[in-house]
Amino acid sequence: MDTPASADADSPSAAVLGRLLVIQQAIDAIPDELRIADFVRRAMSAVPGIADAFLYLKGVNQPEPALAGLLERCCGEVPREPAQNLLRQLAPDLQCFPMYAPGQHLGCLAIRVADAAALRPYLPFLSNISSAIHRIIEARRYQARLAEANEALRIARDTLEMRVAERTRELEHRATHDQITGLANRALLVDRMQGAILNAQHEGSLVAVVYLDLDGFSFMNTGLGNACGDAFLCETARRLARLVRDSDTVARIGSDEFVVLLCGLDSAGRSSVLLSAMLAAVREPVRLAGKDVVLTASIGACIYPLDGDEPEPLLRRANTAMHRAKAQGKDNVQFYASARDAAVAERMELESELRRAIPAGELVVHYQPKLDVASNRFVGAEALVRWQHPTRGLLPPGQFIPIAEDSALIVALGEHVLRQACLQARLWQEASTGAARELTVAVNVAARQLRERRIVETVRAVLRDTGLRPACLELEITESSIMHDLEHATALLHELKGLGVTISIDDFGTGYSSLSALRNFPADKLKIDRSFVHEIETVPSAAAVALAVISFARTLGMRVNAEGVETLGQADCLKKHDCDEIQGFLLARPVPAGEILALFSQPGLPGWEGFSA
Ligand code: C2E
Ligand code: MG
Ligand code: MG
Repeated sequence: MDTPASADADSPSAAVLGRLLVIQQAIDAIPDELRIADFVRRAMSAVPGIADAFLYLKGVNQPEPALAGLLERCCGEVPREPAQNLLRQLAPDLQCFPMYAPGQHLGCLAIRVADAAALRPYLPFLSNISSAIHRIIEARRYQARLAEANEALRIARDTLEMRVAERTRELEHRATHDQITGLANRALLVDRMQGAILNAQHEGSLVAVVYLDLDGFSFMNTGLGNACGDAFLCETARRLARLVRDSDTVARIGSDEFVVLLCGLDSAGRSSVLLSAMLAAVREPVRLAGKDVVLTASIGACIYPLDGDEPEPLLRRANTAMHRAKAQGKDNVQFYASARDAAVAERMELESELRRAIPAGELVVHYQPKLDVASNRFVGAEALVRWQHPTRGLLPPGQFIPIAEDSALIVALGEHVLRQACLQARLWQEASTGAARELTVAVNVAARQLRERRIVETVRAVLRDTGLRPACLELEITESSIMHDLEHATALLHELKGLGVTISIDDFGTGYSSLSALRNFPADKLKIDRSFVHEIETVPSAAAVALAVISFARTLGMRVNAEGVETLGQADCLKKHDCDEIQGFLLARPVPAGEILALFSQPGLPGWEGFSA
């Protein structure tokens, strides 16, 4: 900026004033304080009489060392009521306009004077500029502080809201969940039960209420301490939760009492598989304090709508059933048996017990010998399974085979009997001499086993493992199970026959087979059902059926076995009509494996030698 030479020393030049005004306004448009300082320095140096100017803003920029001491003097002490922007003389050639905020020093506009007289007329305007700078900076800093405070407030409010929401959730969770395991508590369980019942009403489905109580948990708690007790409960909770679907509920409602709600079941029987799995899951050892701890559980269950239609009565009944499970020796499942549904509950109970019975070795195989009519010698035996039940005694197959057939259990049961029987036949053969070394064993195969192709592999594996010759194994398949799906059964039995085993059709005469269908069926033997044998002497039509079966079998090159022979008269009649093999109480009832060798060594039917061909 050029100084107009003509200007009166005391009257400011209009051009300079105009520029100062522009400077004043321009400052407002500069966003950054450092850049304001820079701009002011450059702009001021053009004002007449100014050698140099420096806008010192505390905390923003630093005066050069020579200036620093002087500026400190100007700003050192904050006056109680600071006069703003009043010119102070700091040195002969140094003047400044200090700026104060309440209680603190903001900085100053320092001017090194080259010509005091030339500068004088502009000093009031410089004071204006200094106040403008002061105002702008204060206002901006205030705005910034305000924005900062607002932001801090917003953050504080958000944090608070988050904490409140978290705490509310926590309190809600606390009110509805168990603190140790994190499972639902009784209140939530009852709530879920209500929902499940409504849903089941709507869908026509069932809900199982399963009450599980750990056996002997209190001893563990006192023996290993509460921390281990808690860890055990948590592990139990995890194992139970893993077994059920998301839509089911696992709750802990007492110290060692859990309730599992199984929703949307289509049959009550479905739950028993799961209940056995729960027992097994609890029974797995839990590693605690360096030891493997094993506890069992007792389970009681009841079913909506069979045993009640409200949460509390259902819980009470499941609890009653659980106490019965304890009384039955623990580690078992009991269903609440209301009188109305005792049969259903009984069936479910048996199914769940049967699942355990196979690995527990409670299934035993008895054997009933078969007599070859022509030689009057025993040629083998039929394996017939029994269940040595821990409380109900020895159960006949009629009481549990149908249950096993309704579930997939029959597959495991069938495999178990097959293995036992083949092993046993091997042992008899090894213990015998002569023709007895060819003793055969017959094993019953259920319809459901036939539906699964695995049977072929199973038979192959069992023969391989036991070393029994295939010709010494006979598979008895009931006529009705073949007729169920003749095409599939025919194909499968061809495969089985391919292994070298004998196939016989059991209970023949009861299954309404089409004889022409049986023509292509790969069977080696027909077993006349005992109902015909029973009446063979007394009812002419029964005798006619027996005779027809024998002649039909002859035509197709099959052998014939007559089962259920109880009297010598029946045996004689069958022999007369050319029956190949007989089996029945007349010869022997089914006996344990250990007794069969003694039977085999007997000569057959006394007095039959005379009939022999
Ligand atoms: P089944 O295969 O027809 O077996 C013959 C049944 O008649 C046996 O009954 C046997 O004890 C009985 N019995 C034998 N001789 C006489 C007699 O002279 N008079 C009378 N009244 N009965 C006689 P059990 O052992 O109760 O078996 C019943 C059925 O259970 C068997 O009929 C068979 O279908 C089934 N079963 C037995 N064990 C098994 C098995 O391991 N697997 C399968 N899938 N079913 C089996
Ligand atoms: Mg049979
Ligand atoms: Mg039979």
